[in-house]
This record gives sequence, structure tokens and C-alpha cells, in this order.
Amino acid sequence: MWLMGAVARKSRSSSWRGHALIACVLGLALLLAGASWFATGAAAERERAEASRNHAIEVLQTASEIEIAALNAVRGERGFLLTDNPVFLQPMTDAVPRGRRLTAHLRHLVADSPQQAAHADLVEAEFNALVSRLEGIVALHRAGQRSAALERVKDGEGRAAIQAIVADLKQIERHENALLDRRSRLARDRARDSQLYQYLLTGIGLGLMVLAGFAVLAVRRAVAEEAKTRNELRRRAMTDELTGLTNRREFMASLERALAASRRNRRPLALAILDIDHFKRVNDTYGHPAGDAVIRTVAKMAIEVMRGQDTVGRLGGEEFAIVLPDCSVADAYAACERLRMAVRGSGVEVADGHNISVTLSTGIATYVSGDDAESMIARADAALYEAKHGGRDQVLLAA
Ligand code: GH3
Ligand code: MG
Ligand code: MG
Repeated sequence: MWLMGAVARKSRSSSWRGHALIACVLGLALLLAGASWFATGAAAERERAEASRNHAIEVLQTASEIEIAALNAVRGERGFLLTDNPVFLQPMTDAVPRGRRLTAHLRHLVADSPQQAAHADLVEAEFNALVSRLEGIVALHRAGQRSAALERVKDGEGRAAIQAIVADLKQIERHENALLDRRSRLARDRARDSQLYQYLLTGIGLGLMVLAGFAVLAVRRAVAEEAKTRNELRRRAMTDELTGLTNRREFMASLERALAASRRNRRPLALAILDIDHFKRVNDTYGHPAGDAVIRTVAKMAIEVMRGQDTVGRLGGEEFAIVLPDCSVADAYAACERLRMAVRGSGVEVADGHNISVTLSTGIATYVSGDDAESMIARADAALYEAKHGGRDQVLLAA
């Protein structure tokens, strides 16, 4: 009973360990998925930060080129006014379309930020206003109204227009730098978080791997123990507890196997049934434990006297049986006689110092065509009965 309980307990504990192992493997798979998710997130954040830096660089560069275009336009106007030579007007001629292209490009670049877009609109309007003013002055000069043109140059509005453009461009630059700072900080934070997560995941993953290793070992140990317990259970189911001999059920199976082999190979087969004489007296005189010791001693002697291929079983009480495969009548008789003599000649020492001597009666049946286990047992039993009635302590062959 306790053995059945042990098997049930062991199979429960090994299934528990099996579940722990599956949980570890699932945990590891989840961690791997988590790690790759974090790595992908960090890479995407790095890409966004890179794109944002490129964008900021382009905005800053465009802003500085607009400033240069505005200054070049003024330089061309002044050169023309001073020299009256159209060659000196060239910087303005180049700067105007270039400045217009650049201001339009700037608006496009900052379109997604309303604040920046407002500044870019202002820059474009101011640039266009500067250009119309410069073109107006150049037109006056060309029309010969030089003093009027000079008056307009001197009124300081041109400088104010340039300063307004520069101030707005500076606003755009400041805002763009602030945006860039914020995005870089965000990317740095994300990268740090992701790294922390990676460390954490690696730690947990290693822990789970160690746990999984232990679970594998534990499952293997539990499975081995379970197999051992089952084998023990099977062995016990086949064995007589008192003597260690095969029990009645297993003995019958051995007899059936031996009979089948004997029929198949046309080889002789003998069956002996043995019973201790007046055993009741042993129990009555020396007690049940002494009787047990006698049964164990006879069993041990039977094993020692018989051949390796013979099967000795305990049918119950003080009754034994032996299957002797491939054994002639004469050899079976001789073997049983040897056992009878050995038992008769040796006493069994029991606890209170008494030496008990017992004798054995034996009946032997040999296989004849058409025999089965029952018929052989019946004949061996009949021979044993004869041996008992003929005075005991003897081996008789069945008729
Ligand atoms: P016979 O010579 O005719 O065989 O006489 P016997 O006394 O040996 O035969 P009987 O069948 O009357 O007695 C057998 C006794 O064996 C009765 C029973 O109490 C005892 N016995 C049966 N099993 C065991 C056991 O496992 N241990 C012990 N000590 N005694 C047992
Ligand atoms: Mg007896
Ligand atoms: Mg008996």
C-alpha cells in the first residue's frame, strides 16, 4: 500500500517539476520576445533622433543661407548705387530668386510646427518686403532720381528690415535647437531604459535557465525514482514476502511458460510439490516466528540445491513447488532427494536456543503429452499425498 502511495506521490512531484520546466521555457521565450521588442524600440528611437538631427541641421543651414541672401541683396543694391555699374548689381540679382527659394524651402521644412511655421511666414514676408524696397531704390536710381534713391537708403528702414529677418531667423534657430535638445534627451533616456531592461531581462533569463536546469535534473531524478519504485512494486507483486521466492501467481506463470517451452521443444519437464511434515507442531511447540524461520530455511536450501534454471515457489503455508525444465524423471528425483536429505540433516536455530529439525515430503510429476498445469499439479499433489500417507520424509513419483 505504502509503495502505491509512493508511486502516486512521485508521479505527482515529477509532473509538478515538469510543469515548472515548461513554465521556465515559456518564461525564456517571453523574455526573448521582450528583449527583441525593446531592441527594436531602441533602434527606432535612434533612427528618429538621427532624422531629427538631420532635419535641424537643414533648418539651421537654410536659415543661415537666407540671412546671407538678404545681405547679398543689400550688397548688390549698395554696389550699384555707389558705382552706377550694373556688374555690381549682380549679387542682388542672384540673391533674390535664391532667397525666395530658400524661404519657401524653410516654410516647407518647419510646416509641422505651428510656431516655427509662423516665424517662417514672417521671414518670407520680410524678405519679399526687403526685395521690393531694394528694387524700388534701384528703379529710382536707374530713372536718374539719385537723391530720392539715396534718401530712401538713408531712412534706415533697410537696416531695420534686415534686423527683423535676422531676429526671426534666430527665433527659428533657437526653437529648432530646443526641439533637437528635447528629442536627443528623449532618445538618450529611451536608450538608457532599454539598456536597463536588457540587463534585467538577461538577469531574469539566466535565473530562469538555472531554474530550468534544476527542473530538468529534478524531473530526471523523479522519473528514475518512479521507475525504480515501479520495478520494486512489480518485484513485490511476484515475490513471496517471507521467503523471497516467487509467489503462487508468478509460480503458475512460470509453470505455464515451462510447459509451453517443453511442448515446443519436445523436452522433458518435471514438477515437484513439497510440504514440511508436521509443521503445525513446530508452530505449536516453538511459536509462529520459529515456524517462519523454518519456512525461510527450507526455501533457502531449495534455492541452493536446485539448478539456476529451476523455479522454486511458495504456494502458501509450508508448501513449496519447483519447476524443473529440461529435466528427466531420474534427475528430478535425485534433486528432490538431495533437498530432502539436506533439510532432514540440518536443524534450524531459533531465538530461544532450540534447534528444530524438520523433514519434507515431496511428490513429483513429469510432463506427459496432453498435460496442462492443472493436470501436472494434480498428479504431483497425489504423489505428495501418497508420500504423507506412506510415512512422510520421502520423495514419491506420480503414477
Ligand atoms: P502434514 O505433515 O500433514 O503436512 O502436517 P502439517 O502440520 O504440516 O500440516 P497442516 O496443514 O495441518 O499445518 C500447516 C500449518 O502451517 C498450519 C498453519 O498454521 C501453519 N502456517 C501456514 N502458513 C504459515 C506461515 O506463514 N508461518 C507459520 N509460522 N506457520 C504457517
Ligand atoms: Mg505440512
Ligand atoms: Mg501443508
